[in-house]
Amino acid sequence: MTQDAMRVGRPAAASPGLLANRIAIRPGLLRFGLTAAKYLGLFQIARYVTRNGLRIICYHGFAVADEYRFRSRLFIRGELFRRRIEYLRRKRYPILPLGQAVQALGEGRLPPCATVVTMDDGWRGVYSVGLPLIREFRIPVTLYVSTYYIEHPMPVFPVALSYLFWRTTASKVDLPRRLGTFALDAQAEEAEAAAQELGTQLPPADRLCFLREVAEALGVAYDEIENHQLFRALDEPQLRELAEAGVDIQLHSHRHNWPLHDRETAEREISENRGFLERFVARPLEHFCYPSGIYGLHQGGWLAALGIRSATTIEPGLNFPDTSRFALRRLMDGHPVPDVEFEAEISGFMEIVRALRYGHLFSMLQRRFWSHRGGSGSSTQNNDQHQQIGQDISPAAGQQGSEFYDRLHAESNNPDTGAMYYPLLREVVSCTRAHGSRSILEVGCGNGFLAEMILREHSGSYRGFDFSPVAVRNASRRTGRHEILFCGDALDAGSYAGDYDTIVCTEVLEHIDADLDVVRLWRGGTWCVCSVPNFDYPSHVRFFHTSEAVTARYGQLIDIKCVVKVARPLIPDGRLTSYLRNLRWSRDDPSRLLGFLGIQTFDRLGGWFLFYGIRCLRDS
Ligand SMILES: [Zn+2]
Repeated sequence: MTQDAMRVGRPAAASPGLLANRIAIRPGLLRFGLTAAKYLGLFQIARYVTRNGLRIICYHGFAVADEYRFRSRLFIRGELFRRRIEYLRRKRYPILPLGQAVQALGEGRLPPCATVVTMDDGWRGVYSVGLPLIREFRIPVTLYVSTYYIEHPMPVFPVALSYLFWRTTASKVDLPRRLGTFALDAQAEEAEAAAQELGTQLPPADRLCFLREVAEALGVAYDEIENHQLFRALDEPQLRELAEAGVDIQLHSHRHNWPLHDRETAEREISENRGFLERFVARPLEHFCYPSGIYGLHQGGWLAALGIRSATTIEPGLNFPDTSRFALRRLMDGHPVPDVEFEAEISGFMEIVRALRYGHLFSMLQRRFWSHRGGSGSSTQNNDQHQQIGQDISPAAGQQGSEFYDRLHAESNNPDTGAMYYPLLREVVSCTRAHGSRSILEVGCGNGFLAEMILREHSGSYRGFDFSPVAVRNASRRTGRHEILFCGDALDAGSYAGDYDTIVCTEVLEHIDADLDVVRLWRGGTWCVCSVPNFDYPSHVRFFHTSEAVTARYGQLIDIKCVVKVARPLIPDGRLTSYLRNLRWSRDDPSRLLGFLGIQTFDRLGGWFLFYGIRCLRDS
């Protein structure tokens, strides 16, 4: 296994704000609204309503110099931490050790508004700046530590490299090791990506040399980084001292690497991480934090088998007895978060706002406010959604497993099927081109008909996944590009890792009970192009009769710009004989006949509602 995934610090760059949906609202306006809500007493009410919810706050490192200007969430100043803890004290939020809180959460005996403080990665500032504060306040803190950079002391490469590019004032760079010359006003990202890619593949000593070479090429004084010990992980004596001071050291993988579908590597990451930490920590190592917040719900089983009792994500929210112990939500704090936003989150006000936005406030109140102690552990969200199905949406046969789709895709892997969907796929491609999509992620790539079309006609990049291995195999063969296709579940947050600006999702949502949960996993701000049918089929869970019904269902999560009706093709296979046969067969059915004659084909013969817009929430 290479070490190229050691991206300590990536979470902060990619992490959502405290407010999962602030993308839609201007920050100034939001702050004003929150302040008004606070003075109207709504925070107080929210606090009471959500008092059963466990608050887990997430920090990363402390700034040892001015690196908080560079990554203001990754490196906070001591004074911010002090202000937060003083606030929690003043407002009487009980701060609990993580292990105790997780246990009590399951047993339904948490004190009201219980709060846990966690820190990720094991940056040096946690020792030099954080430890004195932790000692002063005598609060329990859990520190999730990745150990590779403790074993190999050097500045954490990906972050330090990024810093060089942030710091430079050069307009052009000639990168070492023949990576090429880049103009930094237009190609800075490309240049950094090339350097990141090469650097992460180098062995530690050479990686350090390379970092110096890049610093020189960019005209940044590398000594400054060394003098301030910027971007350093803890060293061994510091780790020991933190453990002895009572800081709860826990697991974060050895290389800050957590593959979604490679169990063996994931287990090795834990065992190396654990093996290293055991030398310093006397207490059991049984809590985990997903590196970069990337995880899949299937991984809870892996972790449980390793004796791990909880795992935290970077999904925003509070935790209730029915929250999975292996997908605990956290409140990401840092300099970009104004005080009133922090107060809104910690009080639970934002949890209620999110529930309103998702349209499940009632079930949230029912489950959380009036819930019995202990919790049932079942997810009831799907039931809510079934009840929303009104007259314009018809419930249909039902959700099927991946074996069903394996069979279906094996049978339908022929040009006729592609032709059947041609008008829809055509529309999808022109829509992404018109929008200027540069990188597309397709949810449910099926046999790869769309993938083939996009790769042929699109200049941007494409990746796609499907939960049927047969479909993925067929799509790989069809496109000849197995490396851009993978097996993944649309309901698995991990399937959406990586970079993309556009999500394409056709012929998927109608097959899934929890279709809205799928959309919820899509990153806010992403351009989404989706379709749902207006006809029934054995594997459809629902289908739609009007554009309004489509907007009503998906408009809560996607800021839908347009719904287009795409009729199925009249002559999918292009053969006149089969067209005439269709006409003949429909002679006893006037409506069908008219449909085949091109009159209201969409309504008479069926078709798809294609809708597109911007995902309006940031929540992953
Ligand atoms: Zn981390």
